[in-house]
Amino acid sequence: MTKSHPQGAGRGSKADKSATTSLHPQGAGRGSKADKSATTTLRAAIVGAGIAGAHCAGQLAAAGWEVDVFDKARGAGGRLSTRRLGQGWATLGSPFISAQRDPFRSVLRDWARKGWLEPVRGDVLQGRATVSWAQAQMQNHYRPTIEPSQLVRQLLGDARLHTGARVAAIQPRAIVLEDGHVFNDFDCVICSVPTPQAIPLLAELPRLRERLADVRYRPIWSFLMRWEGGPAANVIKFDDELLNLAVRQTSGGSDLWAVHSTHEFAEAYLEASTEEACTRAASALLGLLGLPWPVDVEAAHLWRYALPENPVGSFWLSDRENRVALIGDGIAGAGVERAWESGLRLAQALVQSSEELAA
Ligand SMILES: Cc1cc2nc3c(=O)[nH]c(=O)nc-3n(C[C@H](O)[C@H](O)[C@H](O)COP(=O)(O)OP(=O)(O)OC[C@H]3O[C@@H](n4cnc5c(N)ncnc54)[C@H](O)[C@@H]3O)c2cc1C
Repeated sequence: MTKSHPQGAGRGSKADKSATTSLHPQGAGRGSKADKSATTTLRAAIVGAGIAGAHCAGQLAAAGWEVDVFDKARGAGGRLSTRRLGQGWATLGSPFISAQRDPFRSVLRDWARKGWLEPVRGDVLQGRATVSWAQAQMQNHYRPTIEPSQLVRQLLGDARLHTGARVAAIQPRAIVLEDGHVFNDFDCVICSVPTPQAIPLLAELPRLRERLADVRYRPIWSFLMRWEGGPAANVIKFDDELLNLAVRQTSGGSDLWAVHSTHEFAEAYLEASTEEACTRAASALLGLLGLPWPVDVEAAHLWRYALPENPVGSFWLSDRENRVALIGDGIAGAGVERAWESGLRLAQALVQSSEELAA
């Protein structure tokens, strides 16, 4: 874990929720009012180091902002994070990264040239063993060949990442961590967490909170499974009500697969134990693949907030007066590309408004 408090003495204060005004001595460090825009380094706090938050952070840092990113997890990645295994890694989150348009399409081509991704070509089957298998296509889809969390990590650029740092509240220009530390005096606070997780953080920002009321996320159970035999493919799309997809992992042995449930399965097993969900999924898989022997389930994860339905529909939302903005797929739309774009678009808007923000 990196140091969990931003550098810069006096910016954080333990359990002093009222101390949300600047802790800098007046006139020191931030410049006097007259020359502020010329001398001030703008500061942003970003909650969440998924692809939206990391991209926004890296773009702002590249424009000269001082950026601190707080994530409750042990590393960057969010729904693109990976599970370390004895022999490598596997992904229980998004197995694919796809792009419909530029600029993300060019970025993915560049990542593929660097050897970080490979296009999904051929070896995609759709169907079920008891009916038939057909070849399927997945246009513009890539599979990470390095850990997807590393892809997200490099987007952070010069921004500082604070891991194991769960944010409990967002206030005008300030954040409060679960342990009571308050960090304030930011020129902008950006929240990039799934909207159901953002709502409780926004109690002091009712205008933003109200805009999120209609956004719903649907869950997915993900499993890492091993089996022998089955159809020869790297990706299997199931015609089934319980299981949606199986993706052969590029690391961790060729017989290791990530298997994703349908939303309906995850909703039915939302409060079930992991063991119960694994047993049901493994038995469904045996039938779908027509396997005579059991499959091994090595890991499972319930993503309560896997994909948004009815997202807000703009790249970002902001409360300018209070200097708080929201990004991520619940705002911009489902999928990695939209999340990446939302981080980019907000960063561009903030950089364009730099003078105004510094005044
Ligand atoms: C199983 C699964 C399959 C998917 N398949 C695809 C696919 O094929 N194609 C596709 O394009 N997309 C897919 N997606 C969706 C895609 O992964 C997401 O749209 C995208 O990664 C969202 O990025 P984000 O930055 O908006 O949010 P996230 O990646 O969720 O990042 C949010 C971050 O906020 C952190 N956080 C949350 N609360 C707090 C808090 N209080 N304090 C501090 N940190 C906090 C979390 O730890 C997380 O790191 C899939 C998702 C799942 C789960």
